[in-house]
Amino acid sequence: MNRPRELFIPAKITNVYTYDSGEVRKVAFTLPETYEVDGRPVPVRDRMRPGSAFLVKPFGVRTQKYRRRMYTRTNCSDESPRVLETIINDTHKEKADTSPWWQTDDLVQRCRTGESIDVCVNYDETRSELVVYQNSETVDPTTLILEVDHEWRSMRIVALALSTGITPFLSYLQYMKARAFGTLDGAIGGHVSLILSVKTPRQLMEHQALLDLAQEFPQHFSYHPVLTREWPEDWSHGKGRIIQVRTNGGQEECVNLAPLIALEPNLQQCHVRFCGNPLARDQLVLGLEQAQLAPLSFRAEAW
Ligand SMILES: Cc1cc2nc3c(=O)[nH]c(=O)nc-3n(C[C@H](O)[C@H](O)[C@H](O)COP(=O)(O)OP(=O)(O)OC[C@H]3O[C@@H](n4cnc5c(N)ncnc54)[C@H](O)[C@@H]3O)c2cc1C
Repeated sequence: MNRPRELFIPAKITNVYTYDSGEVRKVAFTLPETYEVDGRPVPVRDRMRPGSAFLVKPFGVRTQKYRRRMYTRTNCSDESPRVLETIINDTHKEKADTSPWWQTDDLVQRCRTGESIDVCVNYDETRSELVVYQNSETVDPTTLILEVDHEWRSMRIVALALSTGITPFLSYLQYMKARAFGTLDGAIGGHVSLILSVKTPRQLMEHQALLDLAQEFPQHFSYHPVLTREWPEDWSHGKGRIIQVRTNGGQEECVNLAPLIALEPNLQQCHVRFCGNPLARDQLVLGLEQAQLAPLSFRAEAW
């Protein structure tokens, strides 16, 4: 069988929204309905599953080159076909390349002047279509692609997101909301408890929308924002680290998950999902082991 040909095609930069200047932005790119390949217009199909990532070529400020980078989509293909939205932070790592570029005025200017960015699609010649690339097709422990509809509709999910690790879960929530959290055919429906940890109030992404969603669907969604570095005086939600690590005299790490358990006492009856950095994922896994807590399932994506 022929493997589809990978192509990068231009998508217009249609939105740049700054949550925290120089730190975190939401961006959106709109792919055309058709794109010409070998002299023929070919339709662009968008079937990305919630929780998956697309591939783009942003500019690298360190290397001065366009690089291939993956971003998890925050919106849904059936709600917003061909409009790929994500949230990106500056990693501030010594060798960071593209992540600082997303926070620059250059990007805003490109959006204002209707410029494009290259997005990866697969050219399926047999069906004569260009399909938006997604990083994974399978539900497995190292991806966050949402389970098929008949499964998530009866699941209780605890989603732990660190900073832009919120991206896959925003997509889940948009998808589930459009399906009344799986209750349309009289079923009880699914439940998501989103625990979001960010440093400052400015970095709370889609905060009001999430508060509103929790109020609209109290049986199906709860939202626990946690601030780790600064918080307003009247902040009534979580403060401090949700996963706390202590080393006893340089020996084995001891992970305290009490703040997480206080928010979700029944982790063993839940499907735990994590999105954040690899170190925090490993600490969470260790903490669950040390507390002898085995969730119904555990899946994590770390970048
Ligand atoms: C599936 C997936 C989904 C993602 N989704 C998002 C998202 O929604 N939002 C978001 O902000 N980010 C997301 N990312 C991360 C994003 O793709 C970038 O990796 C991140 O923004 C850093 O990019 P960068 O170009 O600044 O740094 P990079 O150049 O990628 O470097 C990152 C770090 O890796 C180190 N490094 C780079 N190359 C090497 C090497 N050859 N050997 C050793 N170390 C190296 C660098 O020192 C640096 O510290 C996702 C990544 C994946 C894999």
